[in-house]
Amino acid sequence: MPPPEGLVVVRSRVHGYGLEATRRFAAGEIVTAGDGVIFRDGDDFDDTYALVIPAIDAGFQDDPEELVFYDLVDQTRWINHSCEPNTRVDARWDPIAKIARTWWIAVRDIEIGEELFYDYAFVAASAEPCNCGAAGCRGLIVDPDELDEVEPELRHLLRPPVTTRRASAS
Ligand SMILES: [Zn+2]
Repeated sequence: MPPPEGLVVVRSRVHGYGLEATRRFAAGEIVTAGDGVIFRDGDDFDDTYALVIPAIDAGFQDDPEELVFYDLVDQTRWINHSCEPNTRVDARWDPIAKIARTWWIAVRDIEIGEELFYDYAFVAASAEPCNCGAAGCRGLIVDPDELDEVEPELRHLLRPPVTTRRASAS
């Protein structure tokens, strides 16, 4: 499958493959859309490249709290995590096409040759060591709201917020 326009699949400096910009993207611009297949909790599937999105954005109206998996089936599955990303992902149900749509939006200007990142914000139970290299790296790929629930054996990898570090250094 060819990469989306303006992007190319590369060997990532952070992890595995990545997607890199071959043109400039302005802050607020849609960088690319993703194509995926919906799975619900309990379904048998590989969640390695799945976004977690509200069920309501996948066309399920019954439980507003439910989350579902959107398994990326195109090159967007190579977009890596960063604690200080240059894009964010959004999802919305398209009632006319009757499919969930997802897309990545530049949260700042992105220059040619920059790798795309977004913040995976894994739940604490799925936290993994993070090598994003950002100044504000949390040390783990984990939702900042779930830091208190990180497993004890991973806690030593957590880094204090940059603001705290600056305060203690002065
Ligand atoms: Zn990080």
